Amino acid sequence: VEFEHCGFPSLLSGNLKKAGYEAPTPVQMQMVPVGLTGRDVIASADTGSGKTIAFLLPVVVRALECYFQEAAHGICSPLGLILTPTRELAIQIERQAKELVMGIPNMRTALLVGGMPLPPQLHRLKSSIKIVIATPGRLIEILKQKALKLDKVKILVVDEVDTMLKMGFQQQVLEVLEHVTKEHQTLLASATIPAGTEELAARLVHDPVRIAI
Ligand code: AMP
Repeated sequence: VEFEHCGFPSLLSGNLKKAGYEAPTPVQMQMVPVGLTGRDVIASADTGSGKTIAFLLPVVVRALECYFQEAAHGICSPLGLILTPTRELAIQIERQAKELVMGIPNMRTALLVGGMPLPPQLHRLKSSIKIVIATPGRLIEILKQKALKLDKVKILVVDEVDTMLKMGFQQQVLEVLEHVTKEHQTLLASATIPAGTEELAARLVHDPVRIAI
């Protein structure tokens, strides 16, 4: 299987090729087709497996489908939201997201993470952002300032759910979830799925497909 025969929109297909991604990794092979059907997914996959592209491809395709659904005036309303526990992971994810959306007009991403100045992040939200990559604390801070709405989010990714729990982000993840519309798709990724993770996962997904690499 090669990405160029997967039927992705041509700009996306071209971007995969430019990034040097020719064939899907095992986690991508399993997760992308399921993600594209709209089902919720719980994937146990580690860093290095290609899990980032595995969840980003369904996010970008979903955002493209909703392309013409313009945000209501003023307040930024992204279509895809990716939550991850650390700034470093968020930066990595945004880098790969930018590779995928390069040259697709209007398909902008925003990085909302703690430990970096807030004003430039708020300023970025003034342009039409389609995909947000965030850490939970900074996202909640921005939601409180009403600089962002999550009521148009069609697809939510919670990355490294086990690390989220270890870092004590459970309540914050659930608080973010309250801002997201009921009819969204959820993709979860976690290196391992211990009991505590299972409990949080159960509150995030509906009838999930499980993928283990
Ligand atoms: P991740 O597991 O998401 O942290 O990805 C690990 C690395 O694999 C990243 O640097 C990606 O750029 C790279 N990568 C992801 N998917 C592919 C692919 N299909 N072919 C080659 N490299 C990939």
